[in-house]
Amino acid sequence: QVSQLKKLADYLWEIPASTRPGMLVPAYVYCKEEMLEHILSDRSLEQLINVASLPGIEKAAIVMPDAHEGYGFPIGGVAATRWPEGLISPGGIGYDINCGVRLLLTPLNYEDVAGKLELFSQELAATIPSGTGKGGEIKLAPEEMDEVLRMGAGWAVRNGMGNEADLAMIESNGCLINADPAAVSEQAKQRGYDQLGTIGAGNHFVEVDKVSEIFDESAARSFGIRKEQVVILIHTGSRGLGHQVATDYLRLMMNVMSEYHYKPRDRELAGVPFNSKEGQDYFNAMAAAANFAWCNREIITYEIRQAWQAVFNRSGDEIQLLYDVAHNIAKIEEHIVDGKPKKLIVHRKGATRAFGPGNEELPEKFRTTGQPVLIPGSMGTASYVLVGTNKSMETTFGSTCHGAGRTLSRTAVKKLVGGPQLKQALRDQGIFVEAGSWRGLAEEAPIAYKDIDLVVDTVHESGIALKVAKLKPLVVVKG
Ligand code: 5GP
Ligand code: MN
Ligand code: MN
Repeated sequence: QVSQLKKLADYLWEIPASTRPGMLVPAYVYCKEEMLEHILSDRSLEQLINVASLPGIEKAAIVMPDAHEGYGFPIGGVAATRWPEGLISPGGIGYDINCGVRLLLTPLNYEDVAGKLELFSQELAATIPSGTGKGGEIKLAPEEMDEVLRMGAGWAVRNGMGNEADLAMIESNGCLINADPAAVSEQAKQRGYDQLGTIGAGNHFVEVDKVSEIFDESAARSFGIRKEQVVILIHTGSRGLGHQVATDYLRLMMNVMSEYHYKPRDRELAGVPFNSKEGQDYFNAMAAAANFAWCNREIITYEIRQAWQAVFNRSGDEIQLLYDVAHNIAKIEEHIVDGKPKKLIVHRKGATRAFGPGNEELPEKFRTTGQPVLIPGSMGTASYVLVGTNKSMETTFGSTCHGAGRTLSRTAVKKLVGGPQLKQALRDQGIFVEAGSWRGLAEEAPIAYKDIDLVVDTVHESGIALKVAKLKPLVVVKG
């Protein structure tokens, strides 16, 4: 067990680099004392210590308060390695490449929609396919698949399934330019060919929320968020395509990593130098999968706009995209390390980019405030909009948490909760739920997750993202 946790503040702990031979940098754990037991109850800190030994790692291995054990790296983890020769590791990005969240703003308030919420939930469920492995109406021919992988969200816009104005409101404009369709296997393309515009498994969702509280009036105004407003949260990623890319490259890296004299403590930390042939191929395949995910969220937005039109008899185009953020991705970014700017390979795995004011990557609209940070909680509790800060740029490579984080395994929660009872309990709280399967629904019961208020207070107090608004669920369409 990790006994060397050194308390630095009410929300921050250090595992010094001297804790374990091989650690190249210290590890930092963002967590309030009352939540520490969750993190200590699984292997996440052991995994974090392993991450602190990755070749080329700079400054620190970091976990956020929503941390839990993942494949190789903990979920909620951030690790930056030196460009161009530092390690790139698919486990530091996750199987669901560019899983992420987008928030849509509507012009209506809760009282305007209250009487039609059930109808809207049914229309959304009928319009947006959900469930593991579930396909949709778009079947991509091979050349179209390659275009999607190259263009990202822009492909949806070009094909009449998105609005041009949306593109600027997506991290990286919804397109990583190094994407290479040739680096993506036929099997991955096969798994994704009919999955655009679909939600996927149970942790993914489309949720209609009401803005229940504003913490920062000025940031909220500049984002266009007000109390009582109806907003829509989308959480999904690159579906079977991204999963296959991760699987393919993990297998490849496990086979070749010894040629690069890399022998990780844990085989799940398989990786290669970023500038190796395999590193470049993976990075370019990952970008293609990320583009697929952005295109997917854009097409889901199109489906939501159609459902809106059908139920409320208003134009779907009045729904605006506030922002779309990735939380499973690696990016090449410049950050200050030891007082000097350095180019880094930043791995975020269950961590959200939280760039602060003035950052040139951000669209004009967010230059004075910092970027919106979107943090889902659970279908029965709350979610949050935060804003990125200079503090996150200085301390966490411009990153913050990505959710509440799981505390109960899928198996454990199913023993405690049944799908139909959960649906009724939520209905009693005024929340309409549509689920792809009862099992999927039960696995995602609110008790499976940590307390979102505590997680968000942790990052707020630490200053690595600041609270702007709180959202309460009205309608949840689950995968
Ligand atoms: P992940 O990307 O790790 O699967 O999930 C991110 C976060 O989404 C979870 O940590 C959890 O807090 C949150 N979450 C899962 N299901 C729901 C849901 O139905 N509604 C909302 N608002 N959040 C959810
Ligand atoms: Mn996710
Ligand atoms: Mn996902």
